[in-house]
Amino acid sequence: MEFFKPMDLQSDQKKTHVESVEKVKCLIIGSGPAGYTAAIYAARANLKPVLYTGMQMGGQLTTTTEVENFPGYPDGITGPVMMEDLKKQAERFGTDIRFGLATDADFNGPTHKVTIDDTKVIEADSVIIATGATARYLGLEAEKKYAGMGVSACATCDGFFYKKKDVAVVGGGDTAAEEATYLAGLCNKVYLIVRRNVLRASKAMQERVLNTPNIQVLWEHQTVDLFGENGVEGVILVKKKGTPQEELVKIKIDGFFLAIGHTPNSDVFKKFLETDEVGYIKTIAGTSKTNVRGVFAAGDVQDPHYRQAVTAAGSGCMAAIDAERYLSELKS
Ligand code: FAD
Ligand code: NAP
Repeated sequence: MEFFKPMDLQSDQKKTHVESVEKVKCLIIGSGPAGYTAAIYAARANLKPVLYTGMQMGGQLTTTTEVENFPGYPDGITGPVMMEDLKKQAERFGTDIRFGLATDADFNGPTHKVTIDDTKVIEADSVIIATGATARYLGLEAEKKYAGMGVSACATCDGFFYKKKDVAVVGGGDTAAEEATYLAGLCNKVYLIVRRNVLRASKAMQERVLNTPNIQVLWEHQTVDLFGENGVEGVILVKKKGTPQEELVKIKIDGFFLAIGHTPNSDVFKKFLETDEVGYIKTIAGTSKTNVRGVFAAGDVQDPHYRQAVTAAGSGCMAAIDAERYLSELKS
């Protein structure tokens, strides 16, 4: 690794005071299952990866308790312990793991530049972006209060804990329809809380929801609060808000699932990388390659469909292999 003199670098939007520049073969951004798996593969391929963790070291799974669907843990494992295991495995092969946030990027030239914490520029021959996606919440205090105690943004992850119980899903899009249908197969009753009098979901998904006997759609309902002693025991809703028929409704539930969309953490890279309308980075089908040579994307930041730890890890593996092949081609 080489170090250069401090310099000033002007990006599109902001002036950044750069204190140092460092050159690396493989830069990995993000420390979730995708980033750490990419690091394990890249380090074993001798790419000497440098990984920046971002603000949430270990990624989304550090915010959950039990993970029961990641292969290799027959008795389940807590999210934080699993991510610590992945970190140790990445370190074992020599990954240089650092705390820091990618704040800017420049993918114009042959060497890709990523600014860390507005002060340091990493010049990388290859970049793996594994910055994840963040579930959207309603913004209620109760969502924080009951996080991991009845509030979830992932039915595939947590639905199992609500077997034969009553739950509610908020949202009217395809994700909400999909989550409600999935939960209906496990739970006693599923309330789908929809703020308008129509669903945004595709016709096929709508039909599935409306034809599932244990899903009840609560049209024109908005969530006001949650209640419960040691976890969620119910939800307070307002029906037909702002109309003469406005009414407060209280429903007993054990689980409250958010399905109002996700925001991929791709803002820093959008100037250079193609994304879909939501912001998910587009990759060439069956690969982790983006529209910029040498820049790869893995995990939830490029996955609007599955968003699971195991799929994120799998795509992290793909990104490291793609990066390794790209670097070999550069040399030859
Ligand atoms: P993430 O885990 O989201 O990690 C993203 C990483 O990028 C973080 O380290 C963050 O700090 C970093 N980052 C973001 N922006 C920047 C930046 N600008 N610069 C540097 N770093 C940055 N999946 C399952 O398979 N099973 C489960 O049981 C399960 N339970 C879940 C429970 C909860 C509460 C949640 C929220 C999710 C759950 N999931 C589960 C989904 C799973 O966590 C995600 O699919 C997975 O973590 C995605 O991995 P990732 O590596 O793509 O991104
Ligand atoms: P989405 O299409 O943006 O839908 C979000 C839903 O949440 C909308 O119904 C919206 O209501 C509702 N919502 C947003 N904020 C809310 C709030 N504060 N309170 C209450 N409700 C709120 O998001 P998505 O369902 O996650 O889908 C994202 C993309 O992925 C879509 O393009 C979708 O088609 C695709 N997708 C496809 C599949 C599939 O094909 N199997 C599965 C999942 C996702 P309004 O309708 O009133 O705006």
